[in-house]
Amino acid sequence: MPRHKRGALNAEVVRGHLLGWYAANQRDLPWRRSRDPYFIWVSEIMLQQTRVAVVIDRFEAFVRQFPSVTALARATEQEVLALWSGLGYYRRARMLHQAAKFVATHRHGRLPQTAEELRELPGIGPYTAAAIASIAHGESEAVVDGNVERVLCRLEGWDEAGGKGAMEQRRKIQELAGQLLDPDRPGDFNQAMMELGATVCLPRNPQCLVCPLAKACKTRGEHKTLPRSPMQTKAVGHALTARPVSDDALADGEVLLEQRPAATSVMPGMWQLPVLREAEVPAGELRMMVRHSIMQITYTVRVRAVAAKDVAALAVKGGKRRWVRLEDLESIPLTGLTRKVLIRAGLMGGGSPTAV
Ligand code: SF4
Repeated sequence: MPRHKRGALNAEVVRGHLLGWYAANQRDLPWRRSRDPYFIWVSEIMLQQTRVAVVIDRFEAFVRQFPSVTALARATEQEVLALWSGLGYYRRARMLHQAAKFVATHRHGRLPQTAEELRELPGIGPYTAAAIASIAHGESEAVVDGNVERVLCRLEGWDEAGGKGAMEQRRKIQELAGQLLDPDRPGDFNQAMMELGATVCLPRNPQCLVCPLAKACKTRGEHKTLPRSPMQTKAVGHALTARPVSDDALADGEVLLEQRPAATSVMPGMWQLPVLREAEVPAGELRMMVRHSIMQITYTVRVRAVAAKDVAALAVKGGKRRWVRLEDLESIPLTGLTRKVLIRAGLMGGGSPTAV
């Protein structure tokens, strides 16, 4: 189908429609209730690669425990990772912690105010720097994340470029974002753009009928989106080994965990259920099956109920193993998968403990 003919985007019109829509439709998210640059920083790092619904609870717990840069700087890495558990991409948490220590030591606990200075901190790239500087301090810096990129490409009728054209495309998108940015309300404008991409101009199913920018949009749903790279699948098995400590059975019990090696590239130092030698589990001993995705891999995870005396024979000889009291699980940096299994088994958060 032919694309809708439109002239150059009128920045004033885009700003007016977008900010009006945002005022009426923005989601009430905990980090939006504050202009504290530390809160904005934490939320932006958490939101990279992770869904808003998952981030909300984790964000609130994180800033409750570490309400300031200096509080975060004083924490141990294990404490920080424990609160990051379930968010994945743990390198982000380590970088955030390192940057907090740098700010506490060299800047009296005060984050820089400009995007240029913020970019010098570990783990803060152009996107996060622009978000903090514009939202907390009103600096005219356009934020371009994946959502904004998609909206702008569709507004202008640019196909989402991959391969060799990607660099040039990114430069054009950044330039356009800068032209459209509202210099009087850069923080609101940036958040409105991101919100539009996250809730209306969706990757597979854009809601053009309710889009505030539909009249200015050159594609209105007739767009080309790069196909996603295919997910790989893998099967793994984990041992769920738990025992009561007192007569109260598992309500007062402990579970066997092992620590991933410090030298491994994925989730070093995190704690997980022991990995089984065989991904297949005899039907009578299958405790649950879980699907879990990490980056481009979807794991089919079989969890086998294993008695303590059998773990050594059935599980791969992993890192350091230790029994962890159920009441202490929240303070241990668990992998997201282990956290998911323990919650489903009723051994942490919410559910009721059940026999293993
Ligand atoms: S009209 Fe449709 S394609 Fe264009 S920006 Fe809005 S939601 Fe996206």
